[in-house]
Amino acid sequence: MIDLRSDTVTKPDEEMREVARDAAVGDDVYGEDPTVNELEARAADLVGKEAALYVPTGTMGNQVAARVHTEHGQEVLADRQSHVVKYELGGLAQHSGLQVRMLDADPNGVPTPEQVADGYVAEDVHRPGTGLLCLENTHNARGGRAIPSGEIAAAAEAAHDHGVPVHLDGARVFNAAVALDVPVTDITEPVDSVMFCLSKGLGAPVGSMLAGSEEFVERARRTRKLFGGGMRQVGVIAGPGLRALENVDDLATDHENARVLADGLDSVAGLSVAEPETNIVLADVAETGLDAAAVIDRLRDHEVLATQFGPTTVRFCTHRDVDREDVETAVDRVATALE
Ligand SMILES: *Cc1c(COP(=O)(O)O)cnc(C)c1O
Repeated sequence: MIDLRSDTVTKPDEEMREVARDAAVGDDVYGEDPTVNELEARAADLVGKEAALYVPTGTMGNQVAARVHTEHGQEVLADRQSHVVKYELGGLAQHSGLQVRMLDADPNGVPTPEQVADGYVAEDVHRPGTGLLCLENTHNARGGRAIPSGEIAAAAEAAHDHGVPVHLDGARVFNAAVALDVPVTDITEPVDSVMFCLSKGLGAPVGSMLAGSEEFVERARRTRKLFGGGMRQVGVIAGPGLRALENVDDLATDHENARVLADGLDSVAGLSVAEPETNIVLADVAETGLDAAAVIDRLRDHEVLATQFGPTTVRFCTHRDVDREDVETAVDRVATALE
């Protein structure tokens, strides 16, 4: 089976398992887990922020950030296709009493400064006020688009002009930095907080990081506890997370494999595939006469796994557990499956 559903399917390698076994641990709720402390310091340093917090999932990182940045009842500006809007169970409303003002940030998911300014709502007797702008890079639902740092900076500046803080859902922000060939700090510098996942292309079994100012992270630590995410001897998973940070450069290989995959899939009759910018490949299957669910069923019968991303859109994701040969084999199998 060639599993291209997501980069989250990556399994910890032998080295990570050894790191897990040997990790120094302590009670992290008391701040006594040395491995977590090292991971938090290293993560903060990497993205150029004062501090960072280890969280079990990217979703918790985004939700904690939104809670800390806002007051109950405020509005959040976010792209209609963003993960916080589409895939987090309406958590902004459920956890923090927030109302989302959705922006159609075409084509790559970053609102223009004008869209941010238009979407901004000043607090008055009728209106709750805008409490947060949420950005995403790479942009998952828009096909792993790598957003240039200038666009992030422009949107962030427009929010800051109105006194609105900015959170970046950077689940795959290192994919963006590698694809754009810029230091990740170019992308994270303009935002007040950033979440990134260790558990996707970087290959760790569990965990994400939430970074920002000392004060932000101090408050985020309390909110993580409130959300049930205060963990104990968690160095056993933070250790592999530290090891995963050494895998950043390998993401370039995933991107190359994604281009090979996209190229191959695009030549399969009935599939239309845009050139990927990172490790996510979106295929439009409408011309096959099948819908995405039917295509995915057929692919499974031919030992290829992919994800439905729309009525006729199928997502394929490259990652460290598939190599060039797997990708080429996958293309052959897809061609056979759709014959
Ligand atoms: C995967 C993902 C998340 C959430 O990460 P989980 O660890 O699965 O909760 C958030 N944002 C984006 C863009 C993602 O792709």
